[in-house]
Amino acid sequence: MTARTVVLGGGLTGLVTAERLEACGHPAVVLEREAVPGGACRTEEQSGFVFDYTGHLLHISQDDVAEYLRGMGIWDQLVEHERRAAIFIAGRTTPYPIQIHTQGLPPRLRRECLLGFIKAWASPKTESTNFRDWVLDRFGAGLGECFFFPYNEKLYRAKADELSLDWVGRYVPKPDLEAVIDGALGLHDSKVGYNATFRYPDRGGIRLLADAIAQRVNDLRLRTEVVGLNLSERWVKLGDGSRLEWDAVVATFALPFLVDLVVDDLPDDVLKARAALRWVRVLNIALGVDGQAPCPEHWLYFPEQDLPFYRVGFPSNHGRLAPAGHHTVSIEISLDSVMDVPVSELAEQGERALAAAGLLKPEAVRTRLITVLDPSYVVFDHNRRDAVALLRRFFLDRGVRLAGRWAEWKYSAMEDAVLDGWTAARWIAAAGS
Ligand SMILES: Cc1cc2nc3c(=O)[nH]c(=O)nc-3n(C[C@H](O)[C@H](O)[C@H](O)COP(=O)(O)OP(=O)(O)OC[C@H]3O[C@@H](n4cnc5c(N)ncnc54)[C@H](O)[C@@H]3O)c2cc1C
Repeated sequence: MTARTVVLGGGLTGLVTAERLEACGHPAVVLEREAVPGGACRTEEQSGFVFDYTGHLLHISQDDVAEYLRGMGIWDQLVEHERRAAIFIAGRTTPYPIQIHTQGLPPRLRRECLLGFIKAWASPKTESTNFRDWVLDRFGAGLGECFFFPYNEKLYRAKADELSLDWVGRYVPKPDLEAVIDGALGLHDSKVGYNATFRYPDRGGIRLLADAIAQRVNDLRLRTEVVGLNLSERWVKLGDGSRLEWDAVVATFALPFLVDLVVDDLPDDVLKARAALRWVRVLNIALGVDGQAPCPEHWLYFPEQDLPFYRVGFPSNHGRLAPAGHHTVSIEISLDSVMDVPVSELAEQGERALAAAGLLKPEAVRTRLITVLDPSYVVFDHNRRDAVALLRRFFLDRGVRLAGRWAEWKYSAMEDAVLDGWTAARWIAAAGS
């Protein structure tokens, strides 16, 4: 069978790509192995609780993306919220981001953070090449030791000096001295950062987005796993043994797994680049719990190493996701790509630790949904940039365009998935015209 354009993956990026292509009269087939579309932006209902696969909040910075979602008929269901996020340190919380909110820290820690920031601020700037030096240079040792190093090392399962700076620009707010001093004195009251506000569906969970777009994709083939990709003869092999020929492919699968699907012999430099890619998985323990949420925050960050999770969300604080008198919790634990501890054991540890932190009553847990997102976060180590550039070129030269967070091997959000889908669709349409 022949299909001119094949889109690998029916997550947000793949769906938007196909929807845009069809809107300009260019048919596309979307191949998705799961029974429902949406990928990481899926939602499941269980015992009356609504669980996303992990916390998924929509940060819209571009008017044309807002317009697109309006066109999908879902904008009015996306309620805007002002972020309520905090950092849990030494048994108490202080608002996020910590660099302008040290007021909630014990006095000795607050002093270390403030002093460190002032020393760094007064020192000549250096050309940092790794995350550790960058933090020391901009925020100082106190904030580094208290939050930036332990939090990021727990999340990425890598040392801070193993991380490059390719991801920090948009995601780490950089305050001035005045804001930091105000923050230490509890005088800072404005929200900063790319996620200061967010939108979230009033009800039903984040699947609203993918479902709305999927309705406009004519040829979405669910339960269709791709098990092989032939680049020289241009076909994909499907789980049922059949083949589908293509002229062009938009691939949204995770880059290392895409390389593994290629059935042609691969050159050494491609294999080397594939081996250089590093990532973590996320174990998400979603709980439906009796009673009110233990805190008003939408989510909390946990930098301390004795707690296994890096973040815990309380999604029912921003959406109608639990029956009356109940709440939902989402515990996120980062696992490196080869760690071999049984998931059930880790999930139990996570719940026990949350109870010990005073944020969960174990006897009140009514139901749980345990999922592992693999991959979850790309580790931006010093090999990533060159490896990704080589693989991108390799695939593009053979008619395969990489699109989305995991295919492009980057750190990005749902809004970017929409933009990536648009870009991929434009590329296909231009190549075909
Ligand atoms: C822990 C975590 C939290 C996040 N939080 C947020 C947030 O708060 N806000 C935000 O905006 N973004 C968030 N994101 C990012 C967001 O999830 C992604 O940007 C977006 O989902 C990317 O969509 P995608 O379509 O590119 O990839 P995916 O959703 O992964 O889609 C790829 C699809 O390919 C399918 N597939 C894979 N292999 C095969 C195969 N062999 N055959 C057939 N199908 C296959 C998969 O089933 C999947 O549906 C978060 C991500 C993570 C991991």
